[in-house]
Amino acid sequence: MNLCSKLVFFYLSLHFTMLHFTIMSHAQTFTVSEDLRTKYYEEEFERVNDDLTSFFDQVEKGEIKADLIIGSHQPFVKSFLEYFKDLSKIENGEETQFAIPELVNFYSIGNNQFMLKMVWPNKENATGINSIADFVVDLSTDKIKYGLPLDYRTRYWKKETIGTVTYYFRDEINKARANVFNQKNLEFAKKFNLDPQVLTVYMVDQYQEFLDLTGLRYYPEDNGKCRDGYGVDQGLIFAIDNNEDFSHDLLHLYMGLKYDYLDRNRTAEEGMAYDLGNAYYTDAAGEMIELDFLIEELKTYIKKNSEVDLLKLYTSDEKIFKYIAPEISVQRTISGIFYREIERRKGFDSAVDYVLSGRTQRLKGVFLKIEEHLGINKENFNEQLKMLVGF
Ligand SMILES: [Zn+2]
Repeated sequence: MNLCSKLVFFYLSLHFTMLHFTIMSHAQTFTVSEDLRTKYYEEEFERVNDDLTSFFDQVEKGEIKADLIIGSHQPFVKSFLEYFKDLSKIENGEETQFAIPELVNFYSIGNNQFMLKMVWPNKENATGINSIADFVVDLSTDKIKYGLPLDYRTRYWKKETIGTVTYYFRDEINKARANVFNQKNLEFAKKFNLDPQVLTVYMVDQYQEFLDLTGLRYYPEDNGKCRDGYGVDQGLIFAIDNNEDFSHDLLHLYMGLKYDYLDRNRTAEEGMAYDLGNAYYTDAAGEMIELDFLIEELKTYIKKNSEVDLLKLYTSDEKIFKYIAPEISVQRTISGIFYREIERRKGFDSAVDYVLSGRTQRLKGVFLKIEEHLGINKENFNEQLKMLVGF
């Protein structure tokens, strides 16, 4: 989920009236706010000011030189800084133009490093703000380097490695959950016949905290978003609801490493991720919701609603589990039941074959494969599913 969520930003400014935007295709790459106070670090500011044009030139081209990146997790940092291009891109008919960002803050964070705050204009309205991002420049060598605020903003955090996974956190981690996640990583690697992924997890309370740590101070498309994660990007994970077990998206990652995107049936793969990983979201107690639990809840639902048309419930994906968590899907639960049963009866290769029924096929692909592997079709769907749920 949100694995490749690109950053698209818009915002109506209330008080940044000092911003004056120019939209140009080339040449000027940024402006400096008239209100910027640089008197404390004039020399350093001049150095950065001279260098930023070349940096934003690279951003505009979507390719920042790797030796300009500083900090931990540099492949992640590089790809994240390259998103700046999307913050400034303005589609104007055939032509793509780039809105010029304005530098509005510049201050020392120690060790020859400075934090910069940049504001991008609104795509629709040149008097508004599209997005705001903080980033770090390092002046300790001849060549100015660039990074995210992630290291700085987590500098007092603790760090602990559990097997293949390194956690960064404030107080403590739940070792039982961390062990489950490590075991899942090893289990997936074995199943897919790949090396286990080496992973880093930042324990954040919610999605907005991820945005703050990475410097995306304003990101309107994600306004109000709390319970989502950011997938696994270059081995880096930001936890959902401060939960150590990110195995749902880890399963998607392994599938992506091994199989072609267009072959992967999303409905079936969500079932696989529900079964082998978890349901991605946490319950009210902050625990990951597991397929075993959802199967019991589905059984209870069927008992209470004896006339329910399960085929219709599956295809409509009616939100019957809202009381557990608003995002939980009965369609994914049932897809998970099919996945589990195919793997139990016929093994992992057949279960993968069910998932590889095509990106565009969705339910059509699922029905083809459950007929092939389990003999389930639209006619016997109700009775067969009831049997699998334990009636
Ligand atoms: Zn998923």
